[in-house]
Amino acid sequence: MKYLKEYRQRESIEAISAEIARITTRPWTIMEVCGGQTHAIVKYGLQAFLPKQVELVHGPGCPVCVTSLEILDQAMMIAARADVIFCSFGDMLRVPGSRQTLLAVRAAGGDVRTVYSPLQAVGLAEQHPDKEVVFFAIGFETTAPANAMAAFQAQHKQLQNFSLLVSQFLVPPAIASISASADSRIQAYLAAGHVCAITGYEQYLPLAEQYGVPIVVTGFEPLDILEGVMMCVKQLELGHHVVENQYVRAVVRDGNRKAQEILERVFEISPQTWRGVGQIENSGLRLRTEYMHLNAGQKFGLPSKRPVDSSGCISGDIMRGQKKPAQCPHFGTRCRPQHPLGAPMVSTEGPCAAYYRYSKPVTSNEY
Ligand code: SF4
Repeated sequence: MKYLKEYRQRESIEAISAEIARITTRPWTIMEVCGGQTHAIVKYGLQAFLPKQVELVHGPGCPVCVTSLEILDQAMMIAARADVIFCSFGDMLRVPGSRQTLLAVRAAGGDVRTVYSPLQAVGLAEQHPDKEVVFFAIGFETTAPANAMAAFQAQHKQLQNFSLLVSQFLVPPAIASISASADSRIQAYLAAGHVCAITGYEQYLPLAEQYGVPIVVTGFEPLDILEGVMMCVKQLELGHHVVENQYVRAVVRDGNRKAQEILERVFEISPQTWRGVGQIENSGLRLRTEYMHLNAGQKFGLPSKRPVDSSGCISGDIMRGQKKPAQCPHFGTRCRPQHPLGAPMVSTEGPCAAYYRYSKPVTSNEY
């Protein structure tokens, strides 16, 4: 398949690996922000293609992992109502809230449905005017335009029985928060290519400047990731800290203006609580006043409680690059994909799930 095979060729990977080894003179710690990149790194064993001085650590870019307990508990309260069809992406169904999961709510009789797009949920609202249809609108800048389009369509169609439970996150404030923390050891970032395909990368320029960190917009295939690492290492070795774009086949500086327009029309920037991390200023999106009647939290009059996470999950340390999954005392023992204690063991973008699933990386001549 075009744009896959050529980015998985072992000869190309070994060549770039040799070049990284040649230019590396000191230890460097680089964070890949996106959970999709984490999975590729672990699946293909890419750390083994790097010199010992170059360490990759995993970032907060798994939307399922960072959705707060408070929102999850609200989701379960709504989903348990007899008059509701609750729609979600499949990953969210097994994520533990403070007491149960959406899957358990479904088993107890709740109408919880897996959908593949928010517009599918809008369609369900049209088909079931006697029910309240709620879509769990989670994600980063990648999902926000489609979620915004669902709100726009619902308003356009004057649907009275559709709403969104919104848990949207923004990447740049998270990078700023990690970089600003006194115990951060991150010296460079691989920014998520698909996020930048929407937003472009202008907003990363002041971050690189303020925190003195190279930021390289990077794709998701093995060769993309190693090339992104090489671009970071080159800058680090030279003492540079600018934004570069490795993922030129998908990302332009200004991003996707159409997607940005619908996003900005429906959402506005807000504070956001990241599970395991806490609140980060300006790191979330909420519905604008004109769309607030589509806010499920408000529609159902849900209490705003801050539940305490007593699971023992250390996802916050992992999402901030301070620990690796295997350093969690519960990894592979109390916490496994069949019995997850925390979201990072559930999600297809969760770092713990990646370490568990790919304990033996893929090995073949052509990945
Ligand atoms: S192994 Fe489980 S408990 Fe530990 S950090 Fe990962 S998800 Fe949380």
